[in-house]
Amino acid sequence: MAAAATASVVPANRSRRATMADDEKLVFETTPGVEPVTTFDKMDLKDDLLRGIYHYGFEKPSAIQQRAVMPIIQGRDVIAQAQSGTGKTSMIALTVCQIIDTANREVQALILSPTRELASQTEKVILAIGDYMNIQAHSCIGGKSLGEDIRKLEHGVHVVSGTPGRVCDMIKRRTLRTRAIKLLVLDESDEMLSRGFKDQIYDVYRYLPPELQVVLISATLPNEILEITGKFMTDPVRILVKRDELTLEGIKQFFVAVEREEWKFDTLCDLYDTLTITQAVIFCNTKRKVDWLTEKMRSNNFTVSSMHGDMPQKERDAIMGEFRSGATRVLITTDVWARGLDVQQVSLVINYDLPNNRELYIHRIGRSGRFGRKGVAINFVKSDDIKILRDIEQYYSTQIDEMPMNVADLI
Ligand code: ADP
Ligand code: MG
Repeated sequence: MAAAATASVVPANRSRRATMADDEKLVFETTPGVEPVTTFDKMDLKDDLLRGIYHYGFEKPSAIQQRAVMPIIQGRDVIAQAQSGTGKTSMIALTVCQIIDTANREVQALILSPTRELASQTEKVILAIGDYMNIQAHSCIGGKSLGEDIRKLEHGVHVVSGTPGRVCDMIKRRTLRTRAIKLLVLDESDEMLSRGFKDQIYDVYRYLPPELQVVLISATLPNEILEITGKFMTDPVRILVKRDELTLEGIKQFFVAVEREEWKFDTLCDLYDTLTITQAVIFCNTKRKVDWLTEKMRSNNFTVSSMHGDMPQKERDAIMGEFRSGATRVLITTDVWARGLDVQQVSLVINYDLPNNRELYIHRIGRSGRFGRKGVAINFVKSDDIKILRDIEQYYSTQIDEMPMNVADLI
């Protein structure tokens, strides 16, 4: 099932192509000296990598790729922030491919991500872009057989993309040997350095060689995270986005005033046809609520699928596979889905519950509108949620209007 679950990460649908024309207008605050390099040809990449990039369907680097690829491949520590869906994770894949010496079958780059699905998505992108170079990558994630991890790692891989728990376990068993690791990337780095993960990350970091290069990536990098980077980074190149530039114009944001919790369900049912125009992700704040809403939708004869962290990994993989392939169109889930996952056909995000923090808001709505595509986010707000929504609106200097009748036309 795992293969089916991830196979379609490789450009599932290049027909709904987005050009990122507006990408050029994005404003960054960068360390002096960072100049955009506007084509992949000018980046002095390995021939086989360049072929892989073009074959994967990338024609031109996005704004963040234009700025961050060079410092990363030159070996600098880098903190790279850019809006959701603008090619940050893809940039990890391509820079990792550039720095790996394929003649050496030791792990040279380690990428850590907050969820198993994201770690495995990144592995698949590396394998696809690095195909002509014969890159060996492995995703080292919880919920999978230890035996398979051990077999792959003993056989020798160049890159590991994993979640902190399993990676740490493999390092402690000495199955994942760290002596040749020269690059550590934390994708969704603000999440990785936040309370839930920080200790595990430091645990891994202790085993890595001292001359390590560190790259941090995220759409959101709150100050308290930037403040601690001095502890493990040396003179990093910073490419940052002001928070009032963080929401994408292509993602229209709306709210529906539902007054009471009980009214959310009917509102969702009324929207069902809109949900299935392409694909939609519906966020609830708890696993229990996901189960409850899924059950309730099904008992009202709506077809939905659902996923959360208490499900066995096999089931999570199967659900991801069906959703990525378009076999299912409506996914009800928790914040396990908020960060990094890239399904280009998702054009609608519903916050059935408002997220618990401002960063999550950006990540959730960013599941739509990938790489310049159109997206719509709809927030269900109870009377006492309105202040929270206004706070989000103000914090990001963005606009969240009441949902219009013709919302389906915007998708
Ligand atoms: P982020 O990590 O910033 O959210 P991703 O790296 O996941 O963004 O990329 C979002 C989508 O854009 C993916 O479908 C990816 O294949 C596509 N993409 C990334 N870079 C390019 C590029 N230079 N040209 C075309 N498509 C790209
Ligand atoms: Mg990403």
